[in-house]
Amino acid sequence: MCHRALFPNQVKHCKRDKYTKNMRVVADCLTGAYVHVCGSACSTPCSVPEERMGEWICYTCDSHLTRGKMPSIAAANNLHLALVPTELAELNVLERQLIAKILSFAKIVSLPKGQQRAIHGAVVCVPSDMETVVNSLPRPREEAQLLEMKLKRKTKYKGYQYFYTVNMKNVLAALRKLKESHPDYKDISINESATFEGFQDDQQVEDSDMQAEEAEMDAATDQQPDHTGAEHQALRPGLILDTCMQPPDIAQEVLSYGDGIFSIAPAQGNDPISFFSVPRLEAKAYPVHFPTGVNTLDESRRVALSPSMYSMYGFSQ
Ligand SMILES: [Zn+2]
Ligand SMILES: [Zn+2]
Repeated sequence: MCHRALFPNQVKHCKRDKYTKNMRVVADCLTGAYVHVCGSACSTPCSVPEERMGEWICYTCDSHLTRGKMPSIAAANNLHLALVPTELAELNVLERQLIAKILSFAKIVSLPKGQQRAIHGAVVCVPSDMETVVNSLPRPREEAQLLEMKLKRKTKYKGYQYFYTVNMKNVLAALRKLKESHPDYKDISINESATFEGFQDDQQVEDSDMQAEEAEMDAATDQQPDHTGAEHQALRPGLILDTCMQPPDIAQEVLSYGDGIFSIAPAQGNDPISFFSVPRLEAKAYPVHFPTGVNTLDESRRVALSPSMYSMYGFSQ
C-alpha cells in the first residue's frame, strides 16, 4: 500500500480481515495495485510467480492499519505518481535535462590519472532557460538525425555534466506531451518549425576557465544550507558571476558549437536556488517522473509527511 519496493524480510502477507479499526482507511490504503489477477493475457497454467498472486504489506503500514491510521507514506496519501508516457520514458539522460526547468549540478572533478571523472560534494539546483536552449537548437532535417551534445554549467567551461547524442524529434515530442499534462509546462512556447543553418565554430575553452569553474562550484556548494532547519532563503550567487559580460543575444550565451559538438548551458547566468524555496521543485527538475506535476513534497496530504520520509519514499519507489 505504500507501493515501495522492499526486500522479502521487510514485508509480510497482507491479511485484510485483521484490520478492523478504521474501514475507510483500509479501503483507501489497500489498493491491491500489484496483485496479479489472471486474465486473457495469461498462459495456462499462469506463469506469473506465486508471490505476485497475493498482497504484501510492509511492517510500517501493517502497524498503522492495525491502529486504524493511514501511514504518511501510503500511496493513497497523495504520493501516487502518474504513469510515465512513452514520449517521456524514451528520453536519454541528456534529453531529460534538456526539458527540465531546473537542473541539478554536481561538482565534477577530473581525477589526475586517466580520463576518469568523479562527483564531489553537494548538488546545486539552478533554474534552466530551457525554452531558449530548445528553441536555439537545430531541428532535425531527417527523422533519425542526432546531435552530439554536452551539458555544462557554462558554455566556456571544459568540464561537463553529460555528453550524449540528442534526438531533437524526441525532445520536441516530449515537450508537446508535457505541455498537455504538466501545469509548469502549460505556457512554454516551442518553435516547432524553425531550422537552423550554418552553425559557426565558436568553441573556445581556455585552461584558466577550469580553475574558475572549480572555484564557482565550490562557492556554490559551500553556500548550500543544510536542510535540517526551515531554510527558505535563496542562495547567494557564487563568487564568480560575469554579469557584466551578458551579450545581447541570450542564445549565444547558453549555446555554443564546435568540432561537431553542441555545448549547452541552460542554467548559465542563473543563481542556485535552495530546495525549499521553489514549490514543486522535483516536478520541474524531473518532469519525466512527474508527468502531471502533482504529488510532490508540497502537495497537501491527509497525513503530514516529513521531508525525510518523503525522500526515503522516493528512493525506494
Ligand atoms: Zn508500506
Ligand atoms: Zn495470471
